[in-house]
Amino acid sequence: MQPVPANKAFADHVYKTDAIVLRQTSTGEADRILTVLTPYLGKLRLIGRSVRRPKSKIGGHVEPLMHARLMVTKGKSGMDAVSQAETVEAYPALRSNLERTVWGIYCAELVDAFLPDEAPSADVFGLLADTLARLNAGEEGMALRWFELHLLAMTGYRPELQVCTQCRGALAPNRFAFSPDAGGVLCQTCEQANRIEERQTPFLTPSVNALKALRYIQHQPYEEARRLRVPSPLANETEGILRFYIRYLLERDVRSTSFLDHLRRQAAL
Ligand SMILES: [Zn+2]
Repeated sequence: MQPVPANKAFADHVYKTDAIVLRQTSTGEADRILTVLTPYLGKLRLIGRSVRRPKSKIGGHVEPLMHARLMVTKGKSGMDAVSQAETVEAYPALRSNLERTVWGIYCAELVDAFLPDEAPSADVFGLLADTLARLNAGEEGMALRWFELHLLAMTGYRPELQVCTQCRGALAPNRFAFSPDAGGVLCQTCEQANRIEERQTPFLTPSVNALKALRYIQHQPYEEARRLRVPSPLANETEGILRFYIRYLLERDVRSTSFLDHLRRQAAL
């Protein structure tokens, strides 16, 4: 039998990866299951043993929304385990501010929901890291809309916003609808035909400016999109359209948005 070289044995049992922690769930008193996004290994579920103990050398590096470099030991049966961790980026201004934290958790929740296990993850990893950095720098509205539209595109749910999703015809101003079921906009003729055939599913009638803003965000790099002046009624409308579409795709509310609505109501009092 050939002896296994030491470094080969090492490589078989241990691997290194960057990871952004999407969430932690409890398992046992001090252990946590970490759902993480990696650039090259997709989404992983790893066990973090004793991370809740005060003296843990790992715990402080794998809090939700942290970007860490991990050494992972392959599990003989079951889950791989984090054996070492160091912080790459802690996003301190994001994680010390409740509202920004909730937005960050919202982004992590969408990545977890839309990115299938085993799917290639480099683009989504870059998008999430960039978005957390933008939230950390105090940007939000446009950073979030850009994140939503580009995450949808990367995971196969890019909404059609240019031409009618059904007949591919051009849209006339104020004579179109947004249909989550169709996966984008419908001209008035197709929308009415659907209605007559009782294939009517929930839809919205966005303003022309909201449609233009969404198209712009969909096509421009972030550095261009962030210069767009969006008055708050229009910002609210674009946020509402994307939330409506995302809720339809997931067949549920995104948990973090209800908490965010609660925070906004408190701030308005
Ligand atoms: Zn049409």
